[in-house]
Amino acid sequence: MKYSLPKGTKDVLPSQIQQWNNIGQKAAALAGRMGFKEIITPEFESTELFVRGVGQGTDIVTKEMYTFARNDKDSFTLKPEGTAPVIRAYIQNGMGSEPQPVKLFYITSCYRAENPQKGRLRQFHQFGAEIIGSHSPYADAEVIGLADNFLKEMGVGDYTLNINSVGCPKCRANYYALLREFLKDKKAALCEDCRSRIDLNPMRVLDCKNENCQAKLEGAPMMIDNLCDECAEHFAGVKAALDAAGMDYVVNPKIVRGLDYYTNTAFEFIPGESSSSQSTLCAGGRYDGLCEELGGEATPGVGFGLGIERLIIAVGEKQSEYPPADIYLAPLGERAAGAAFATRQKLIEAGYSAQTDLMGRSLKAQMKYADKIRARYVLIIGEDELDHGKYILRNMETKQQEEIPADDIAGIISKIAK
Ligand code: ATP
Ligand code: MG
Repeated sequence: MKYSLPKGTKDVLPSQIQQWNNIGQKAAALAGRMGFKEIITPEFESTELFVRGVGQGTDIVTKEMYTFARNDKDSFTLKPEGTAPVIRAYIQNGMGSEPQPVKLFYITSCYRAENPQKGRLRQFHQFGAEIIGSHSPYADAEVIGLADNFLKEMGVGDYTLNINSVGCPKCRANYYALLREFLKDKKAALCEDCRSRIDLNPMRVLDCKNENCQAKLEGAPMMIDNLCDECAEHFAGVKAALDAAGMDYVVNPKIVRGLDYYTNTAFEFIPGESSSSQSTLCAGGRYDGLCEELGGEATPGVGFGLGIERLIIAVGEKQSEYPPADIYLAPLGERAAGAAFATRQKLIEAGYSAQTDLMGRSLKAQMKYADKIRARYVLIIGEDELDHGKYILRNMETKQQEEIPADDIAGIISKIAK
């Protein structure tokens, strides 16, 4: 074959569409019930938005962005994640003067130039939600609750919610000094990524996937043990809210978002061992410094991104057939084709699913096709029938046929109505 799809991308075929639509509808319905409104932002934004909004030292910015230039001046990047564009839209549309908080959700494509593997694509999809304008620990618990409810509703049985606090720029400065001191004599033994992380954001060393690096971290100081009073109180508030709602979680000091504008809560939903998805299903956290970083007023925010392809791996891919057609119109000959086409239009306008021949097939071949699309009824329109102003309506289940006046659309509808 001459062309195949780019590595790390996927076709969603008609047999899979129902599962996709169901995921989107369930996400929108659940988010809607919790007061989140939907937002759609462009597929690409200025590169600078992501460099600032995701962070210079992150894997996304250093390795994974699809960046293109339209001319010498403008550099654009395909959206690698959803939060920075939403905050850009919040600032640009003056949403700060709407009643706060502003609660938004989105379902979007994301693009990252990664090494494709199971559950790791170059174009993937996220269901994401953000609460902008509230510093309350209940806002953190609310977005966590939305992700948790959604995973449950989708039937993901086995997962663990991991939470942590990454503090604020104030307490993090002291902690970074402690961590850098701890890592000083281990630097040579760490992977290349980690060596460069030590200067940029040392906390990122903690979530390195390299086992060798992980082994060197034994006894490392943890942010969670070095929070300032305010951050400790906030974290206690989040835990209390989750406890009150009976939501299980594990405090995992290694869950990090290592940039200054990520503050306080960081969380991940990690699939259990029995799940066929090995990687994180959903990740999120608080980003109280982001709005200001992007040129807006200082405004707190918290949100998550949930990978739809990883969700599908966790619940299993479900194939499904399209619903049966209400009626197939089988014309024989040129004149009949015109009549079938016109009648088909009227039935569509009346709200029924109706198809007709586009291949010039014989009656026998058309009946076979009608079976394949599981048509409930077939309307046979032959030359003879046309001359006599009568069509034949066949019930495909009972195999019974009856004559019906050609121009009696209401009569046809009364027969095929369920
Ligand atoms: P990972 O550590 O797996 O690379 P990440 O920290 O880069 O994840 P986030 O940026 O937090 O992930 O994205 C949120 C969610 O989006 C992830 O939990 C995952 O479900 C999904 N996701 C991220 N990258 C990919 C990808 N390349 N392919 C498919 N889904 C992805
Ligand atoms: Mg990644």
